[in-house]
This record gives sequence, C-alpha cells and structure tokens, in this order.
Amino acid sequence: MASQRPKKILIVEDEQDIAQLVRHYLEKEGYHPNIAKTGLEALNLAVSEHPDLVILDLMLPQMDGLEVCKAIRHKPETARLPIIMLTAKNEESDTVVGLELGADDYITKPFSPKTLMARVKSLFRRLERTNDHKPTSLVYDSMQMDLTRHEVTVNGKEVLLTAKEFGLLEHLLRHRGRVLTREVLLNEVWGYDYYGTTRTVDVHVRRVKLKVPLFNDSIVSVKTMGYKLLDKPREE
Ligand code: CA
Repeated sequence: MASQRPKKILIVEDEQDIAQLVRHYLEKEGYHPNIAKTGLEALNLAVSEHPDLVILDLMLPQMDGLEVCKAIRHKPETARLPIIMLTAKNEESDTVVGLELGADDYITKPFSPKTLMARVKSLFRRLERTNDHKPTSLVYDSMQMDLTRHEVTVNGKEVLLTAKEFGLLEHLLRHRGRVLTREVLLNEVWGYDYYGTTRTVDVHVRRVKLKVPLFNDSIVSVKTMGYKLLDKPREE
C-alpha cells in the first residue's frame, strides 16, 4: 500500500530558517521533506518529485503562494495534490482565497511545530479515509486507467500517454455521455491561464485515438461544439 512508504512533503518557503525548522520536524516524524524556495521551483518539483503533500507559504518572492496553489490545481498531474498553506495573521483574506482555490488546510504563523505536525497527520488520515471511497481506476471496455499510477493499459498492455493526453482522456472518461466543448476541455486540462487555441484540443484528441484505437469510434466530435465519449463503445 502507498501508506507504507515514507510520505514525501514539499515545503515551499523562501525564509530558510523556517523552511529548515519545518524540515527538521518532518524528518523527526519519519517524513521525507524537500524544500523549494520559489513558486516556480515548487511547480517543477510538484511534477517531478510526486510529493504526497505541499506545505505552501503564501509570502513568496515573484510568484506568490496563491498563484502557486492555483497553478497546482490547474495541472492535471498535480490537481489532487494536498496543500496546507502557511499564512500570516494579517493575510486572512488571502487565506479565504487560498481555500477557494483548493488548498486543503491552513496554519497561521507563528505556529508551533507540534501544531503543524498534528495538522499534517490529520490531513493524511482524512485523505486515506476519503481515498477509500474514490475510484482509483477508470475502465472503458478493454481499457483501464490507473489514476494513482498514472498508467493506461489496453488488454493489460501499457499505452504511453503524455500528461496532457492522459488528462484529456481522464476528463472524457469521467464525463462520458456528455458533450464537452473545446473551451471546457482546454480550461480543465490545460488550465485557465494556458495560452493556446482550441486546436490544441483537436490535436490531442487525434493523438489519443492514434494511441488507443478503441477510442476511434467512441470519442465522437459534436459539430462546432466539441467532443463526447460515448457511454459504451459502438458494437462492431
Ligand atoms: Ca515566505
């Protein structure tokens, strides 16, 4: 089980004394912490290191914590990554925005290490409970999408999809039977601040069909609107 291996925690904080202190306490509890000093570094590590949790300070140079939070939620590969925000007392309105953007919890500075550890543990406990009820895979005919391992197999054989192809297919699978406009797909998979055209969606749909021919007939284009994944594959 995933809960057996040490959990990786990404600390995003530019103030080194605080970052080191948090790291020290997390290590003492058996976690594997990593530090990012900037928002950009945090986003890169969130994708490359697959952390189990992000402890995100709101006050960061250049890209602030709220922007980081938003970017994490909009990337399909990090969309469900748990986030605990570190906020200052006078940042209450930012805290509200952070929670609206999808942060899971927040702690007000100055905080005691004991409080932080208690929050981390309770968040992991809460997630384990809810994960029990969440699907860990999506199935469509002979295709299986493993959401925790980010893997797609057809008849047990792995098909390599890029992160965007995976995100696009996941979105179609979760909303099968519904027409999804190119705009909606672009926003959900690429994020609201993605600078691209709806043609990007067409290109990726074509690539998914090429890689998984099962979807050739079952992802249908709906005139001028967008795409729909049929509830069930068409009979031969
Ligand atoms: Ca800071």
